[in-house]
Amino acid sequence: MSINLQTPIDYLKGVGSSRADLLRKELGIHTYQDLINLFPNRYIDRTRYYKINELQPNNADVQIIGKITGFKEVGQKRGKRLVATFQDGTGVMELVWFRGQKWIRERLKANTSYVVFGKATAFGGKYNIAHPDVELLEDHEKNLRSALQPIYPSTEKLANRGISNRVLSKIMQQLFMDSGGKFTETLPENLRSELKLISKSSALFNVHFPKSPELLSRAQFRLKFEELFYIQLQLIIKNRIHKSKIKGLPFEKVGDYFNTFFKEQLPFDLTGAQKRVLKEIRADLGSNAQMNRLLQGDVGSGKTIVAFMSMLMALDNGFQACLMAPTEILSVQHYNGLLDMCKNLNISISILTGSSKTSERRKIHEALENGELQILIGTHAILEDKVKFQNLGLAIIDEQHRFGVAQRSKLWRKGPTSPPQSSHGDGTIPPHILVMTATPIPRTLAMSVYGDLDISVIDELPPGRKSIKTVHRYDKNRLNVFRFIRDEISKGRQVYIVYPLIQESEKMDYKDLMDGYESIARDFPMPEYQISIVHGQMKPADKEFEMQRFIKGETQIMVATTVIEVGVNVPNASVMIIESAERFGLSQLHQLRGRVGRGAEQSYCILMTGHKLSADSKTRLETMTKTNDGFEIAEVDLRLRGPGDIMGTQQSGVLNLKIADIIKDNDILQHARYHAKNILNTDPKLELHDHHVVLNTYKQLTKFKNIWNYIS
Ligand code: ADP
Ligand code: MG
Repeated sequence: MSINLQTPIDYLKGVGSSRADLLRKELGIHTYQDLINLFPNRYIDRTRYYKINELQPNNADVQIIGKITGFKEVGQKRGKRLVATFQDGTGVMELVWFRGQKWIRERLKANTSYVVFGKATAFGGKYNIAHPDVELLEDHEKNLRSALQPIYPSTEKLANRGISNRVLSKIMQQLFMDSGGKFTETLPENLRSELKLISKSSALFNVHFPKSPELLSRAQFRLKFEELFYIQLQLIIKNRIHKSKIKGLPFEKVGDYFNTFFKEQLPFDLTGAQKRVLKEIRADLGSNAQMNRLLQGDVGSGKTIVAFMSMLMALDNGFQACLMAPTEILSVQHYNGLLDMCKNLNISISILTGSSKTSERRKIHEALENGELQILIGTHAILEDKVKFQNLGLAIIDEQHRFGVAQRSKLWRKGPTSPPQSSHGDGTIPPHILVMTATPIPRTLAMSVYGDLDISVIDELPPGRKSIKTVHRYDKNRLNVFRFIRDEISKGRQVYIVYPLIQESEKMDYKDLMDGYESIARDFPMPEYQISIVHGQMKPADKEFEMQRFIKGETQIMVATTVIEVGVNVPNASVMIIESAERFGLSQLHQLRGRVGRGAEQSYCILMTGHKLSADSKTRLETMTKTNDGFEIAEVDLRLRGPGDIMGTQQSGVLNLKIADIIKDNDILQHARYHAKNILNTDPKLELHDHHVVLNTYKQLTKFKNIWNYIS
């Protein structure tokens, strides 16, 4: 190959420094390599021309030959736009620009033949194309046209600054000419022949300039496979390095705390899934490596007891343990839930949150450092630098999706100090880490996102749970719903009524909540009914007071915002009413619903909505009424929202794939993982001749962390 793919994009003929700047900023293209890896979103047929009178409301992209007969400026200030009248002898339509009007005005001429291309939409009885691709007919006729013309990702800025799809295609052509179309092969020969994958050069050529639909799909397959293969390879290598290099604290035995609890105090029989997961954790803790495990289990599956028993293993080996939860309410609940069990076992336990008093804090800090305190429960407050453990052996994070990766790594550094050679860089041995989540992530996705974690799943609910009945009701049926609530309360049950709270409209939501509260208070008057209310603007102590009243059964109704979404456990509550349910995401709805169905009684979830519902809202509501299975719900959620959103902002970058689609290309992912594992099993150091290409590519990827830079 004659050119270096790490060459800055500025050097490519036809790019230049201002275009290079735009490409860098808008598409993250810094080098030739980045440009080659800019894959088309889709392909369109440029051999077909439409007439204006043939246009249909649902036409996707169309190209039309015609002339501009006039320009006008419409609207003012921000609404200002440039409108060109465009005619082709069969009809009239409009071309519209909201931005870059000056630039357009200077370049386009009236009564000249152009080919315009873009998405035609009908508006006010006339078709228009906003920000069309416009080309002189004369130039257009000189170009090669294909039935499979690639459409590259773009941004408004690029389009406005004249880097149209056509320009991108030209730049791409230039790069292929300069390189002679020859690119270094990145997959081993034997793997390629086994899987019938086309060569890298042929794949790159055909993805950018497809010769036929068949070659295009083979090109896409090969590139998707490659992308997923190297991601999996890196994750597996990272995981192996972790296991061999990062020494774990030795938990040699299962001792008295665990055994006494297990034999004498366990309040129920563990489910098979809980037992299996405990075994997996035990195996990790007993090995020489540091545990780094994700525990997935649907709401109510009983993760807390697994967490507690894991902490007992730490204590049995003379170590301390901590459990961190995302909210104060949840921390307090964990603390209260574990307090009695700890008392019976003579274990010291404390809670540390944002509202802990200074004097308490001081005591806790001291007791942690001198080792008197064995278990610490708390919120982010645990992460503060002042909080130092004498010998933290196990750190557990509950509802981990609420925390970021940074927080997980902070816990790492809370481990005991050790002789430098056996430690993790700065002289501490990291504690074993268990992160728990009730946001079910389809396993394959979890594998790719949390590839550096081992995964355990509790896929079984405790026995005797009745599945929750979920219904959707419109606001106008509220009276019936209230009657139902009254019936349930008369049977001794308790009810949650939850209102949405979304940051941007916090004030309005607060008003909704208060209005709702007042109307509920009218329909459920004191002294017969007692109502708790909990929302984000209350002081922690007041929240806690109200929570406690509900937990103790002093109030029958809990009116709340989503602060109760996570982990709250009141088994006697059997009805969950979700107001404005259309405004919640699926996983949130599922989490909220999980607050009921925790006791032996039949539980209900009622989703209240207004009449107008978007298609997505309808899908969400239907999914909720159809199934209780968190994993099934997660799959739908994934389809509706895409993976980035599900993982939260912290993790979204992880799925920044160039060509593969983590959901649609799941089969390829499985294949890729299988082969990556296979290669590493037979040749862990990638020393075999056949695997040189893998090693080299791997080195390149880790050196130029452009697309795979999330792997630290
Ligand atoms: P989550 O996984 O959502 O955190 P919890 O740990 O809060 O669930 O458990 C939910 C409820 O189920 C609690 O009341 C807990 O005591 C109970 N529970 C957990 N495991 C079992 C079991 N094996 N048998 C019966 N009840 C259980
Ligand atoms: Mg929980």
